[in-house]
Amino acid sequence: MTDVTTAPAGSATSRPLDEPQLATGINIQGLSKTFTVGRKQVHALSTVDLGTRKNAFLSLLGPSGCGKSTILRILAGLDTPTTGTALMNGRPTAEVQKAHEIGIAFQDSALLPWRTVAKNIRLPLEVAGITADPEKIDALVELVGLKGFENAKPAQLSGGMRQRVSIARCLVVDPTIMLLDEPFGALDDMTRQRMNVELLRIWTEKPATTLMVTHGISEAVFLSDVVAVMSPRPGRIAEVVEIDLPRPRVPELQRTPEFHAYVDRLSEILFGSHGVVDD
Ligand code: ADP
Ligand code: MG
Repeated sequence: MTDVTTAPAGSATSRPLDEPQLATGINIQGLSKTFTVGRKQVHALSTVDLGTRKNAFLSLLGPSGCGKSTILRILAGLDTPTTGTALMNGRPTAEVQKAHEIGIAFQDSALLPWRTVAKNIRLPLEVAGITADPEKIDALVELVGLKGFENAKPAQLSGGMRQRVSIARCLVVDPTIMLLDEPFGALDDMTRQRMNVELLRIWTEKPATTLMVTHGISEAVFLSDVVAVMSPRPGRIAEVVEIDLPRPRVPELQRTPEFHAYVDRLSEILFGSHGVVDD
């Protein structure tokens, strides 16, 4: 499977970019970000190096305020870095943003309440000035398991269903890069479990280099090829753990000793050295 380094299977490395040519999906080097708030400077990110191969699933775990969302916002073009560079598919982020190759989904599904499911899914295409093919929207509705709800309004949907719409909206641009910021963070445990299985199915059907922010350790292990653990603010990558578990991943995997070993290892990195994760 795709991974971040040539390190031995199951090993951890904090040197994901020693071989930058391998990071053909997302390749971040020396990224830092300082916000100026009035006269105060908030040093949010300090020299982040992070990379992953094309179509890999990379998760970012870390305490609240360590800059996870800032990394995603910079990649999405919603913020600018203070220093550093980021490449996606070997090209500058601005170029990839302009080509509408990035799909984004956040914790809050951020659907427009007056629009139907189908019209919410179409929105990124409209914004990009691309004509939406109705068949494509139908196929996406089906892919995310919302057939029959095309004309429903967000208020008529459950939280899980709203996140399905937001995943479909993320996919409508045929993204080569998916940026997911705690997409299931607001859902109850059972719905979240189901959505993780669904996300894997969708990602397998429509591969894209995926960077997901999560505070769920099990979720990160279950979904990812690679998990990068961040340290508290100013955020930097504390450790990168390659998840060498077989795919396709099935829910039963979560009951195996190998799975638990990864969860324990990540918990140790997070809680052992830095105290608490409180988001
Ligand atoms: P995380 O997603 O890991 O919880 P964020 O990336 O949202 O963290 O924020 C990192 C740090 O940067 C926090 O201390 C936050 O308060 C600060 N920050 C984020 N966005 C802004 C902004 N637009 N202006 C000022 N400070 C910001
Ligand atoms: Mg955040």
